[in-house]
Amino acid sequence: MINEYKGQLTDIYAKIREEEAAALKKRREIIKNEHPEILDLDNEIGKMCIRLSINALKSKDESEQSFDQLKDAITELRARKYELLVSHGYNPEYLNLHYRCSKCKDTGYIVTERCSCYKQKLVKLQYKASGLENAIKEENFDTFNLNYYPSHRIGDEKFSPRKNMETILNSITADYLPNFSKKDDNLLFYGTSGTGKTFLSNCIAKELLDQGFLVVYRTSDELIKDLKEIRFNNNLSVEDLLINCDLLIIDDLGAEQITEFSVTELFTLLNKKLLNKKKMLISTNLSLQTLTKYYAERITSRLFGNFKLFKFYSEDIRVKKNLAR
Ligand SMILES: [Zn+2]
Repeated sequence: MINEYKGQLTDIYAKIREEEAAALKKRREIIKNEHPEILDLDNEIGKMCIRLSINALKSKDESEQSFDQLKDAITELRARKYELLVSHGYNPEYLNLHYRCSKCKDTGYIVTERCSCYKQKLVKLQYKASGLENAIKEENFDTFNLNYYPSHRIGDEKFSPRKNMETILNSITADYLPNFSKKDDNLLFYGTSGTGKTFLSNCIAKELLDQGFLVVYRTSDELIKDLKEIRFNNNLSVEDLLINCDLLIIDDLGAEQITEFSVTELFTLLNKKLLNKKKMLISTNLSLQTLTKYYAERITSRLFGNFKLFKFYSEDIRVKKNLAR
């Protein structure tokens, strides 16, 4: 997890505790005005609880008797308080601090282990940071439809588009995703537009985000903007996000304006990610030959040497989908 989110989550929990403390203060105010005798009782219980904990620190023979007596008295007063609250139509817990997560008492931790509510909040944060929150509502494995891929061969490809896609899907769902945290596989999806590259990368992103991984999506254009932001404005949080996310998806490589700057910075980013064993998924509409022509050899050799290559081909599925509507 990147540091920025650790900080954000600490703040979120602090805010929850603050809100609950304020809500309790309000409830006490109400009781004070309407049934002051219940609040007096509550204050008395509070004082006795403090005495009880002081007593607990004393040696056994000194404290045992009054300790048990105190405990019994507290239990009795509590029962009376609950009774009074209920008789006036309040919840018996009305004067107690409420927790949104009773497991961790809104701290996010159970001793040193992260609570399940912590992970849920992290997933939510990471969904927002991914840049994919909306896209993956519609494009995920539940909506992926192999039927859009023709089962007859096209061009001089050895397999039909459907067979090809089945092979890719199988590799992703049976190998890449289940082994995501164990392996350092990078993926390069290449092939003409409208063949499902972005769709499939969205499916992958959703699976990983739901498991608590930080996935960041950028079109190559947006990525170059981010790289400029890092280089010229020294934006460390953008750099941290791009370098240390679990999966960086770079969509439509080659659609950006290719300049000396973009090529150099892209190369630096690729190297940093590879060195840190942080994974990437790159998609491009360019053929491998065109990629080599557009980018310096040092980039393409990184791409071809460190990435698993998947070729996408089909008739244009977007056209087919539109016709089917
Ligand atoms: Zn919790």
